[in-house]
Amino acid sequence: MNELVNTVIEVFFANPIFIGLVVLAIMCVVFYSKIVGIMGEFWVKTELWKLSRKDYIVLNNIMICSNETTHQIDHIVISKYGIFVIETKNYGGLIIGKEHSENWVQYFGKKKYYFKNPIYQNYGHLKVLSDVLNISENKFISIIVLSNRAKVRVTSNIPVIQLDLLVNTIKKYNNEILDIDISTIANKLNELNIKDKKIRKKHIENIKTKIKDDNKKVDEMICPKCGGALLIKNGKYGSFIGCSNYPKCRFFRKR
Ligand SMILES: [Zn+2]
Repeated sequence: MNELVNTVIEVFFANPIFIGLVVLAIMCVVFYSKIVGIMGEFWVKTELWKLSRKDYIVLNNIMICSNETTHQIDHIVISKYGIFVIETKNYGGLIIGKEHSENWVQYFGKKKYYFKNPIYQNYGHLKVLSDVLNISENKFISIIVLSNRAKVRVTSNIPVIQLDLLVNTIKKYNNEILDIDISTIANKLNELNIKDKKIRKKHIENIKTKIKDDNKKVDEMICPKCGGALLIKNGKYGSFIGCSNYPKCRFFRKR
């Protein structure tokens, strides 16, 4: 029996693949949600490899500082047909939303989760890019990509699509609208990209703090967007918390 155990141990430690697999299995359990996110971005990256290298330059995970805040952009595709700014949400379930609504809904059966409208978020990215590159906003195309597991019911002129449709969606844009050399744009973005891990980490921490601060303000019935008072309102779909400065400020949150 002892001998058997010894042999097993010997084979195990002699074979780095075994050790690797065990470590990998442990990491998968511990970092599950992080891995789902990373895999989502990985699949988008592999999809984008299908674009011809001659006509499209793909940049992934770009972090840019503008007006003292850092912005993380998942994927940028530069072509003479425009600069595509891609925001990925690795969400499954049924996704319902509108181009101009503050929040969208994710349904898993009867369970309902609200999340920030990613079109707004990506518009912020687009504006930052337009600003740092000094290229007009209408040369940019925003695309929101959800996972293939998602059922998408979003009414919007901006493409909100499953991953499978990404490359075809990009190829649909075939009017040459950019007369600047695309490698010049790519070089500029690579220069601006923050590569320092410490600054990148700080950016993620800032986002977490902002969410905490916003929640605290809502608890105190203060609008995190404009500082106005929040009110409990009754809408078509039940009561919610809305800003007293409506319609100037459209902040709302489900109760
Ligand atoms: Zn407000």
